[in-house]
Amino acid sequence: MSADPAAQPSPGPDVVRHLYVHVPFCPTICPYCDFHVLTRRAGLVERYLERLEAEAAALAATYRVELDTVYLGGGTPSFLRDAELEALVGSVRRHLGWGRLENTLEVNPGTVTPERSAHWQALGFDRASVGVQSLDDATLTFLGRQHDAQQAREAVRTLIGTGLRVSGDLITAVPGQPLESDIQGLLDLGVGHVSAYTLTIEPGTEFARRGVTVEEEDERRGFEQTEALLSARGLTRYEISNYARPGQESRHNLAYWQGRTYLGLGPGAAGHYPALDERQRTGGILTVRRTNPHLHEWLTGEAGTAESIDAPEFVTDALFMGLRLRAGVNLGSLSRRSGLDVAGVYAAPIEANVARGLLALDGEQLRATPEGWWVLNRVITDFLEVEVPRQDTPGSGSPG
Ligand code: SF4
Repeated sequence: MSADPAAQPSPGPDVVRHLYVHVPFCPTICPYCDFHVLTRRAGLVERYLERLEAEAAALAATYRVELDTVYLGGGTPSFLRDAELEALVGSVRRHLGWGRLENTLEVNPGTVTPERSAHWQALGFDRASVGVQSLDDATLTFLGRQHDAQQAREAVRTLIGTGLRVSGDLITAVPGQPLESDIQGLLDLGVGHVSAYTLTIEPGTEFARRGVTVEEEDERRGFEQTEALLSARGLTRYEISNYARPGQESRHNLAYWQGRTYLGLGPGAAGHYPALDERQRTGGILTVRRTNPHLHEWLTGEAGTAESIDAPEFVTDALFMGLRLRAGVNLGSLSRRSGLDVAGVYAAPIEANVARGLLALDGEQLRATPEGWWVLNRVITDFLEVEVPRQDTPGSGSPG
């Protein structure tokens, strides 16, 4: 971040309340994974921690930060040794503070012991997102996971026993997966939140090389069965792939879906930042999205990519993310945040998709129907095709 020429030395005007930290290390690489991950090598974690401290200091010097949520994802943050995780948390706390409302650690079942779970809680984590993926040994083997079902059950019980809020991650649409017993088994363990993502075969992964495919029919069945089973047990689908008991929603992920700004710390981390100064604002820039480079470039202090977001892009981004939520998006609030009359400018795609049964408009609240969720990319394309005059003259386009 410090090498980014767009960064200004004085703090920007808007407070940033969310922080994502990327920990890129995993014990082994799963065959479906396309995240920025690598196995650890001597000296690499130490260099990562040093650079992370410098980047946290640079973010603190650039933005006004009062954190509500912190999320350590990866990779496998729980794979860090106790002293390493302590150093990481220390750097974050020293420069950026700690989340007032929620602090999540992504956890691999194979890394959990009662002692480590207690240590994570003592460090300030109150929520664990656990990569269970399935409770069926054959499915876990197919997915190339290093844990078995028994370890996953033990890990969830231990974390809940320590007093952490636990979210269980599941992968659906895996060939031969007993999805119903996976879901019932996970709920029987007492989790209050489930993230259920369809297995997707990304280019460049081991599964893509092996020619593994996922049938659309299995995908759709998984999508519908997951909702039916989880809602029957009292978890609401509050986002396309996320389910929670009341009050157990992920506050951090809600910030993404609600189009809030957040800091991204670590290699490969993406962040969504407020415009820093009047020059950007009066030039029609509302926010800036930055993505850090991968580990080796990041270690040298190389800047990542930065994309300035103007009002039309802010609106389509906010719709793309916000329509993932069951509650949808409030068009009045989006108009105030973007300075665009959203209901007026996007009247045509709104009306067309309401007529197709893909969107529903209730007063100012726009949401996707279950059918619309299934084809959300196509729905958003209609919004992207609207020509909005660019506000590129100084003095125009300041947010409402
Ligand atoms: S544990 Fe998660 S982040 Fe690590 S390789 Fe497997 S899927 Fe990727």
